[in-house]
Amino acid sequence: MCRYFSVFALIFALVAALAPPRPALALGDKTVITGVRIGDHGATTRFVIEADKKLTFRIFTLASPYRVVIDLPEVAWRLLPGAGGTGRGLIEGFRFGLFAPGKSRVVLDMRSPVGVKKSFMLDPADGYGYRVVIDLTKVSRKTYMEQVKAVNRSRKVAALPMPAPKMSRPEKRRAGRVIVIDPGHGGVDPGTTGYRGSREKNITLAVARAVKARLEAKGRYRVVLTRERDIFLRLRSRVETARSAGADLFISLHADALKNRKVHGAAVYTLSEVSSDKEAAELAARENKADVIAGVDLTHENPVVANILIDLAQRETMNYSAQFATLLVAQLRRTGKTLRNAHRFAGFAVLKAPDIPSVLIEMGYLSNPKEERLLRQPAYQRKLADAIARAMDRYFEARK
Ligand SMILES: [Zn+2]
Repeated sequence: MCRYFSVFALIFALVAALAPPRPALALGDKTVITGVRIGDHGATTRFVIEADKKLTFRIFTLASPYRVVIDLPEVAWRLLPGAGGTGRGLIEGFRFGLFAPGKSRVVLDMRSPVGVKKSFMLDPADGYGYRVVIDLTKVSRKTYMEQVKAVNRSRKVAALPMPAPKMSRPEKRRAGRVIVIDPGHGGVDPGTTGYRGSREKNITLAVARAVKARLEAKGRYRVVLTRERDIFLRLRSRVETARSAGADLFISLHADALKNRKVHGAAVYTLSEVSSDKEAAELAARENKADVIAGVDLTHENPVVANILIDLAQRETMNYSAQFATLLVAQLRRTGKTLRNAHRFAGFAVLKAPDIPSVLIEMGYLSNPKEERLLRQPAYQRKLADAIARAMDRYFEARK
């Protein structure tokens, strides 16, 4: 067995050696973004995206806050860690990542209203690859808003109808409890950034996978992840996944970051109209901004995110959520540090399914160097998964 394996390995190595060099096997035929540059030319700020192949692109602007969105086909990113963290000229910073299957996105946060003066594609020259060049200039707020409105009008015609939220729960056909784990953020929404540059979206996905493995090993749970890769998801589509899976429990995973690097510890949040404290309210406001961060146009939507109203049917669910939160806090205490009053309440949009007990776990602070290191370790991720699984066993045991 071993010998065959090594022969195959050798053949593969030879084939690999003979084959023309490829940037990376996993990248496939995707266009690779090799660099992004910002040039401050006084009145104009130039944004350049460099790629190894020709690119199609589409630009539009959004208000409150001022954003310029550049949509690309699905690309692979080869940018320096921390790219986008700081801007220049009229650009405050930018984010990039997968927005939807087949569609990548760059979102520029602007310091002021801007107009796209010109945009064009350049062929490789002077050691540079293919480049998308976008020149932005300052305009008045009035001009900016007209430009946003015009884009909205043209997009309304082209926009695909949004699927109606699924409000009926499917019949339960299988044995075992259905758990939906929601790795927070993803794709063009990276979440918070750690002391050493860890991205919240990667930590949450790693822990979600560990929880899934742990629960499936027990044989009593069916686990669905809201996302399996580095892709953006609307907050409401996370809730819809839980509903259409017929979830018995929904857990959204996050990790926070603060200016104060000393703060550390985990906390569990459940939904409430009234926040337990100022910090919880601010946290919920940050987490609820995911759609804005990803450059989603919310002009024609109900401000469901801003307005957390709880109906009567939700009260019972909230009791169950609180029961699970209590059990989970107890288990997290055995695993590592938790915040004082580790069960907190606030208006998180992702916890709004009226009939599914839901909690949001802030697993720790990426701004705290020690906790960031822990959260990156697979061994610690497994410990967190164990704690979550133990709490779940107890919760369902009590509800038999
Ligand atoms: Zn988060």
